[in-house]
Amino acid sequence: MTSHSGAPGAEPATGQISDYYGSLGPLLQMAWDDNFHFGYWEGPSDASSVQEATDRFTDLLIERLRVGPGDRVLDVGCGIGKPALRVAASTGASVVGITISRSQVEQGTARAAAEGRSDQVAFQFADGTAMPFADGSFDAILAFESINHMDRPKALAEMARVLVPGGRLVLTDVTPPPDHTYRPDEETDVVTSLVRFEDWPGLIRDAGLRLDELTDVTEHTRGTVDRLVDGILSCRRDFEAAHGISVQQVLDAAKEALPTVSGVGCLICVAQKP
Ligand code: SAH
Repeated sequence: MTSHSGAPGAEPATGQISDYYGSLGPLLQMAWDDNFHFGYWEGPSDASSVQEATDRFTDLLIERLRVGPGDRVLDVGCGIGKPALRVAASTGASVVGITISRSQVEQGTARAAAEGRSDQVAFQFADGTAMPFADGSFDAILAFESINHMDRPKALAEMARVLVPGGRLVLTDVTPPPDHTYRPDEETDVVTSLVRFEDWPGLIRDAGLRLDELTDVTEHTRGTVDRLVDGILSCRRDFEAAHGISVQQVLDAAKEALPTVSGVGCLICVAQKP
């Protein structure tokens, strides 16, 4: 996701994003899950837990990667590694996860070791908009709720570059509400930027990729906010005791770093390198 440091359209401030996850990450782990992404519920009567709903969303993306043993998958913006390890376990592919948070690299690496998958899954510090990989290094790329922190055209060009011909890109993005309350020009110091659903075909085309699927899943991810608030309220005391910092402080900092809009949606985009 694009982070504006001062002026709209400025370079992503990766340090600021890393700080953002540094303080919010431990709270997310307690109040939400080790999956740092939306949950996916089948419908209003679906009583799935946060863990089930976030893993279900991962599984929907894994199906779309269409990889198997011997394939190499890149996870751009890997969080603390839960989705990458799930990709590896369910497909047999090897996975490299990148993030601009050093503590996430450490946590992901420890998780891979704990699951006995250090040979199959690795994590490293790298920027999705300037990746240290040769052209055509990966058979598929997952970018799960992370491109919203990056300059999208730059990140997509890099993803297209490191994919093999015929390789697949599967991503999710956060979308603004359709009511036009989001005004990107007024957002000057945020760690996430939003583009509209309708902008995605052009973004994919401009990166030299072919669009395979663009799906609005907002109806399925809508339960996320209420459940996250519930989670924060119920872990408040434990969090404050464990971290010596108030939940309010973490939330205030997060709020300051997020766009001033409520009712965000979510999309799945799948593309292929010709
Ligand atoms: N995909 C993970 C994490 C989503 S949170 C999950 O579903 O659990 C967003 C992630 O993007 C964080 O790990 C953050 O560090 C990473 N990120 C943000 N900007 C990045 C950039 N420029 N390059 C690489 N990773 C980035």
